[in-house]
Amino acid sequence: MTVTTTPAIGSAVALKCRECGTRYPLDASYACYECFGPLEVAYELGSVTRAQIESGPNSMWRYESLLPVVPGADARPGLQAGFTKLVRAENLARALGVKTLWVKDDSGNPTHSFKDRVVAVALENARRLGFETIACASTGNLANAVAAAGARAGLKSVVFVPSNLEAGKIVTTAVYGGTLVAIDGNYDDVNRLCTEVAASRNWGFVNVNLRPYYAEGSKTVGYEVAEQLGWRLPDAVVSPVASGSLLTKVDKAFREFVDLGLVDDHPYAIYGAQATGCSPVSQAFNSGQDVIRPVKPDTIAKSLAIGNPADGPYALDVVRRTNGAIADVTDEEVVEGIKLLARTEGIFAETAGGVVVATYRKLLREGRIDPGAETVLLNTGDGLKTLDAVEATSKPTMVISPSYDEFEAEYSKVVS
Ligand SMILES: *Cc1c(COP(=O)(O)O)cnc(C)c1O
Ligand SMILES: [Zn+2]
Repeated sequence: MTVTTTPAIGSAVALKCRECGTRYPLDASYACYECFGPLEVAYELGSVTRAQIESGPNSMWRYESLLPVVPGADARPGLQAGFTKLVRAENLARALGVKTLWVKDDSGNPTHSFKDRVVAVALENARRLGFETIACASTGNLANAVAAAGARAGLKSVVFVPSNLEAGKIVTTAVYGGTLVAIDGNYDDVNRLCTEVAASRNWGFVNVNLRPYYAEGSKTVGYEVAEQLGWRLPDAVVSPVASGSLLTKVDKAFREFVDLGLVDDHPYAIYGAQATGCSPVSQAFNSGQDVIRPVKPDTIAKSLAIGNPADGPYALDVVRRTNGAIADVTDEEVVEGIKLLARTEGIFAETAGGVVVATYRKLLREGRIDPGAETVLLNTGDGLKTLDAVEATSKPTMVISPSYDEFEAEYSKVVS
């Protein structure tokens, strides 16, 4: 294999195989020709200061020098993703009996999930590489983000989703125009089909042939947590796990910040959260296996319903190296998690956020996470897209006619 050098894209210098280290040019490829391992962006990071980052835009582009994008934030055609709120969750902390708790609330992104971050980086590279169509295999949120970003950037979009998605994710994709392909099958079927389509069409599939760039967008969650804590690392982070990419990139972000001298080196533990109905990474972790056995998903947490997670083994590595853990929770617990967060903090999370809150509570109950550890919970999406999960148990307290007497009579029954 020839060692290839291509022009750098900002600080990104190559694609590099995560397994054997073979380097490739920064084009639209994602698997190693030598060993089929996944490719990852390799950087030569120069020096970056806190002041440089702080003077950047209030979006993820404040970290552009650490991403595989051509420098020059003003020209970016996409949606302004990132720099979402880090909320101090004192009420939830009290309810759970823990010391210091934060919620990184990525429902504040343009299409209301953290997927706008990954799409933003993929889109920049789709344009750089001359694709006129962007595409994706999605569990829902990615479909929203690709359709919206495509619309704004003036690119065609073709998104593929399982046909059993929540209405709140079909409507919020279709509304942006573009082509929406609903497939009678699960995400893993959708993904397999997309790999075939990607091989025959000159489309930029954000999470297939552009996946190495896409995945880097998740680092910005970790950067923001560290910056928003006042340039320091937390003791623990609880991340949802679908493909496992986000979890690994939060770790990568923290390590880069330490290497760049932007934060002090501080031990942190990364925890993974899955729904029991799709918990292949949790099952591997809890049975001490390195190999992830694919499952057929069956859970209300559809955004996390990936039965054969591409980055699962790397997520296991991160969790083990940082002395974290992975656990999973039932659909009932997911609903409890959504409601607990809503009722304590006024944050309405989607099912993935419910998975995180419920998994954190379970880890606390089982004594697997230190209640004294300053912990950041990642809420990656908005509850308005997964109303189905809480609809049956979220009804008006009373339904009455517009009569004062009736109100008094009924209200006195509920305030005892
Ligand atoms: C996609 C998604 C995730 C997880 O992403 P991975 O990087 O594939 O593990 C988490 N939460 C929500 C809401 C998502 O849409
Ligand atoms: Zn390789």
